[in-house]
Amino acid sequence: MKPVHDMGVAELASALKSRALSSREATQALLSRIQAHEGLGAFLHVNGDGALARASAADAVLAAGSAGPLTGVPMAHKDIYVTADMPTTAGSNILAGYRSPFDATVIARLNAAGTVALGKLNCDEFAMGSANENSAYGPAHNPWDVSRVPGGSSGGSAVAVAARLVPGTTGTDTGGSIRQPASFTGITGIKPTYGVCSRYGMIAFASSLDQAGPMARSAEDCALLLSGMSGFDERDATSVQQPPQDFHAQMLVARDGASAGKPLAGLRIGLPKEFFPAGLSADVNAAVRAGLAELEKLGATLVDVRLPRTELAIPVYYIIAPAEASSNLSRFDGVKFGHRAAQYDDLLDMYKKTRAEGFGPEVKRRIMIGSYVLSHGYYDAYYLQAQKLRRMIADDFQQCFAQCDLIAGPVAPTVAWKHGEGKDNPTQAYLADIFTLPGSLAGLPGMSVPVGSGEGGMPVGLQLIGNYFKEGQLLHAAHALQQATDWHQRAPAGF
Ligand code: GLN
Repeated sequence: MKPVHDMGVAELASALKSRALSSREATQALLSRIQAHEGLGAFLHVNGDGALARASAADAVLAAGSAGPLTGVPMAHKDIYVTADMPTTAGSNILAGYRSPFDATVIARLNAAGTVALGKLNCDEFAMGSANENSAYGPAHNPWDVSRVPGGSSGGSAVAVAARLVPGTTGTDTGGSIRQPASFTGITGIKPTYGVCSRYGMIAFASSLDQAGPMARSAEDCALLLSGMSGFDERDATSVQQPPQDFHAQMLVARDGASAGKPLAGLRIGLPKEFFPAGLSADVNAAVRAGLAELEKLGATLVDVRLPRTELAIPVYYIIAPAEASSNLSRFDGVKFGHRAAQYDDLLDMYKKTRAEGFGPEVKRRIMIGSYVLSHGYYDAYYLQAQKLRRMIADDFQQCFAQCDLIAGPVAPTVAWKHGEGKDNPTQAYLADIFTLPGSLAGLPGMSVPVGSGEGGMPVGLQLIGNYFKEGQLLHAAHALQQATDWHQRAPAGF
């Protein structure tokens, strides 16, 4: 048998089911590995005793023969999901030491499915960032080259999977935070259609964009995890009323005209011209084109489409997301939970000092931008215009989907950059979100699938975007690609 850390979700689940391995053994092995690789900065909290107790409970279920597809599988969660048995910080000092009285719905579902939570994962403060360098608890390091960032905001979630510390993690994606770190670390991640996963207990950044999703090594593993975490939740007003989905079964559904060699026969993949601009770095372009050539070999046809407002997605997102954040983050005032300044004169002074001490610079920047664009006199000029353009961006996608089934392109314009490179120039990092923001604004499902390596041997992800509720189709295409290639199986040297 392979070492535990070499097994993905599906593999581990079947080893557990066959009783070749117990969940307790798997948990113990991964807890030691997490400790050995502490320097990566992936985890903010490790819950050894709690995990072992859950693993024993899972072993009892496995012994009784009533295991589900995820029973006993160890995983870890982005520290933006509230958890009753572990602290939750959202990567912020303002929530240092915070304990939630309840579990986020996504976490409660994964726990009920028998997964074993080993701990909480590093992320950018309140999920604002693209490099995990905005975490109040220090950076996370890319295992492919520790002098580079893992991407963000779900940086810890990506590092934990890429370094084989856990087979699967949860992430969240508001403007690319699952897809971009997945691309930077050579793993697979899916952001489902807005509303597929409950946002209840996922600390809000920009509520009209925030969406939960899994990060793992393969599309198959993501399909299993997504089935376990998604579904209607009456506690989230934007949760979609649809029956529970079996994304793994959807992933396996063969297309009409498909054959062994051509599983994607008839699939039309649209390539927006705007996703391949002159500024796209050559290494990323080459890897993405190679991935597309593989998809063609599998029977897909490539068609040219247009997303003419791609560039506008950046200002639109960086108005709407901060606007919503400025409102969502007003709850952190030192009164009910989290940090409170030690010394203050009166209530207003307490608010001011608490927030000045508790929030980091990027969060403060967004609160200021958001308050500005929502203020009287600027609302019409900025926020309202951004909302109108958001609708037009979503409409552009529908025009594309009249000509194709999926849209493909790069996830990010470059491979992972070096630590410190984006720090002094926040707008530079905002521009690098260009390919993930349009799909987010439209609420569409998107994936990152590893397709090659670029500068410095760093991984490159292919982005696939589907129409609403076409997660099954996305996973099917990604799975077919992964059956034919081995990029998703490659581990960074030493891991
Ligand atoms: N990089 C984007 C931002 O900083 C996206 C973050 C996210 O998806 N949470 O807002």
